[in-house]
Amino acid sequence: MSFRSVRVTAATALLVAVAYYVGANFGFFLRIPPSTPSVLWPPNTILTATLLLTPPRRWWIYLLAALPAHLAAELGMEWPASLVLALFITNCSEALIAAAGVRWFSDAPGRFDTLRRVTVFIVAAGLVAPFLSSFVDAAAVAAVQDEPYWLVWRVRFFSNVLTELMLGPAIILAVTAGPAWLRSASRGRRLEAALLAVALVIVGAWVFGVLIDRPVNIPGASVVVFLLPLILLMTVRFGPGGASLALLSTSLIAIWASAHGRGPFAVLPPAEGVQALQILLTMLIVPILCLAAVIVELHQATRALGERLEALRASEVLKSAILASLSSSVAVLDRGGRIIDVNAVWTRDGGEFAGPTSARIRVGDNYLDVWREAARRATPHADEAVAGIAAVLGGARLGFAIDYSAHAGAAERWFAMSVVPLDRPESGAVISCTEVTERRRAELDAQRSRQELAHFTRVSTMGELTASLAHELNQPLAAILTNARAALRFLDAAPPDPGELRAILSDIVDDDKRAGEVIQRLRDLLRKGEPQRVLLDLNVLVKDVVRLLSSDAIIRNVSVTLDLAAEPVHVHGDRIQLQQVMLNLLLNAMEATAERSGPERSVVVRTEITTMLETVHLAVEDTGVGLGPGVSELVFEPFYTTKPAGMGMGLAIVRSIVEAHGGVVWAMQNPTAGATFHVAMPVRYMPT
Ligand code: ADP
Repeated sequence: MSFRSVRVTAATALLVAVAYYVGANFGFFLRIPPSTPSVLWPPNTILTATLLLTPPRRWWIYLLAALPAHLAAELGMEWPASLVLALFITNCSEALIAAAGVRWFSDAPGRFDTLRRVTVFIVAAGLVAPFLSSFVDAAAVAAVQDEPYWLVWRVRFFSNVLTELMLGPAIILAVTAGPAWLRSASRGRRLEAALLAVALVIVGAWVFGVLIDRPVNIPGASVVVFLLPLILLMTVRFGPGGASLALLSTSLIAIWASAHGRGPFAVLPPAEGVQALQILLTMLIVPILCLAAVIVELHQATRALGERLEALRASEVLKSAILASLSSSVAVLDRGGRIIDVNAVWTRDGGEFAGPTSARIRVGDNYLDVWREAARRATPHADEAVAGIAAVLGGARLGFAIDYSAHAGAAERWFAMSVVPLDRPESGAVISCTEVTERRRAELDAQRSRQELAHFTRVSTMGELTASLAHELNQPLAAILTNARAALRFLDAAPPDPGELRAILSDIVDDDKRAGEVIQRLRDLLRKGEPQRVLLDLNVLVKDVVRLLSSDAIIRNVSVTLDLAAEPVHVHGDRIQLQQVMLNLLLNAMEATAERSGPERSVVVRTEITTMLETVHLAVEDTGVGLGPGVSELVFEPFYTTKPAGMGMGLAIVRSIVEAHGGVVWAMQNPTAGATFHVAMPVRYMPT
């Protein structure tokens, strides 16, 4: 035992002795004459509280310390020494039974904040201990003083039950929770407590006739009507501490009044008055203590739920931040709807910072400051205003600190988030984030308007194509008409030849299908909607578009040749968008070729798979006017056009579509004549 703990033990022992002495005299003082028993007997409860608050190995010290106080208090009573000693032993036995019982059954002896803890105290200290010890006590008194055994037992039992319940929690809470409350309570709370206490004392004094000796109606009724609301208010506002102090002061006032022949209980014969009062107070204390505990439990459950939610939220942000940092460019959408881009994550496990785990470092060099700040704030009661959140993540308590001020004034707000496990403050992570909500919104808007524009240009391209489309539709329709007339003629012949007729009718069906396909392709192209990525064969796609433009080619007197890869050329993409790429490139090539008056007017479309680079390659080669020097990049700029009715958007859209598919597009002047437009895209192998 260190010197300090010896001093603490000695001081406590002295305090116990003084309290015991004062408590005993107080008990004698509160007797209702002419009966001998006290209404209240504090010494046993003082011992019980002491034993509950101290380690069992020191119990004997405090019990011994109480002996001189006991002798000093009781030897003046002119009782035989043997009785005085016997009474000391029964007092100690009550305290021992109570303390041992509460310690055995309660998970936190000395606390009254769950229903279970309060129930254990009520049963062990309030009921069982007085019950058992009273047998010995009554036997001693009956033997020495020649008093009736059961009367002594009953009187002692009731007074000790009341004292344990009334004084026990009050002493224990005053010692354990009192100093902290006095230190931390706000001025408003103190004022509220003081006002309630004053009100309680005044109403209590009035109810029990201390102020005015009122005529008595039904004993106890006024207690319920006038005092109970105040006691309940105290309980609801100040928990078990408030409840036990309110009950204590009420009891003291009631007992004092009764001892002085005042109040509702004074009309009864003394012995009955005492017992009625004891029963009333006990009946009041039990439910109020339980209520106080339930209120605390409710509060704690609500707070725990709130903390859990907060922790979940925080850990969600953190988890997605870490995930995002691993897949470099993913943006995190936090709960506030903000899009957060994680720049870098530094991790630390004991020693120096490792990382950053992401290569994209755009964080300032003050992360160490942020780290220190996080460690400083990493207490369970961190200042919430600075977004310090204590969290439970994977079992570890974490402290968060978010430093929003880090780059105030920069174009995009960035901040550093530090995460420190509370139980291991030397490890954790610093995450640098940028809020990119505005940028991402702008990007999304741009993407949406690009889609609109692509649709618009498709529609206008179709306008240009109407002549050739009319031509293309005309062909099958004319063929159908011719075949139908021929069929009619055959029918007139006698006898009609069924084989001939069948052949004609099946031709009609084929032509009809062709017309239907033309219309279907048109409708596909004109459809408006979200892009949908599917597995496509580029060869099929090229053939479709070439067929759509075949009449156009004839009108412009341009021959279109296909030089396609023998095997299917698979890509992953949106059918309509890629058709639009094909359509724009082919139309441009045919227009450029038609503009030139040369002997050779041809367009060649090539596809091939470049296995080594894992790309598919599409080339549209024409023999047209070609690209002037320095134009091959310019043509992809929006609104660049050399055509009178041109809009200059076609190639810009081609580029944005190809790039959205992870590919590249470029243009080259041919050595002889014309230009070639190249598209390269990632190949997509068929799943085997
Ligand atoms: P538009 O066709 O409305 O002019 P584009 O973006 O499709 O818009 O084309 C932009 C310009 O690029 C054309 O005006 C033309 O000058 C040039 N260009 C496109 N394709 C070719 C080609 N195959 N040969 C020569 N010049 C071309």
